[in-house]
Amino acid sequence: MQVYVEKPKCTGCAHCFDVCPVAVFQMKDRTSPDANADVAPDNDKWTGKSEDSVVAKWSSVQDGHNHFHEKFEGGSGGISVATQGPSCILCQACLVECEGECIVITDDTNNVYHSIYK
Ligand code: SF4
Ligand code: SF4
Repeated sequence: MQVYVEKPKCTGCAHCFDVCPVAVFQMKDRTSPDANADVAPDNDKWTGKSEDSVVAKWSSVQDGHNHFHEKFEGGSGGISVATQGPSCILCQACLVECEGECIVITDDTNNVYHSIYK
């Protein structure tokens, strides 16, 4: 199993980190050298700028999460990195909880799953 996060769309809500039963995701500070430590392709890597449409949708939402904050603190903020993709058991919990709709999973027969926020 291969898992990555499309970093420019990640709000830092940490839902993936909270729900994954096998700890695929780690939250990293956006300035951390590990912010791109998963298999995201070059156009989905973190380069310091979030996608405008995602910022417009989530930046002022008051749902108890820190959106687009540099640091992971207080249960949200920072950016998600799928550091343990091969551990994924395809339970799909993260796929329906991802605010940024930015998780991509490829299974062992090359089926690709994208997150859709419920
Ligand atoms: S689908 Fe995979 S990465 Fe997502 S929560 Fe389930 S085990 Fe974790
Ligand atoms: S659930 Fe999605 S938007 Fe939220 S931290 Fe994880 S990857 Fe980022």
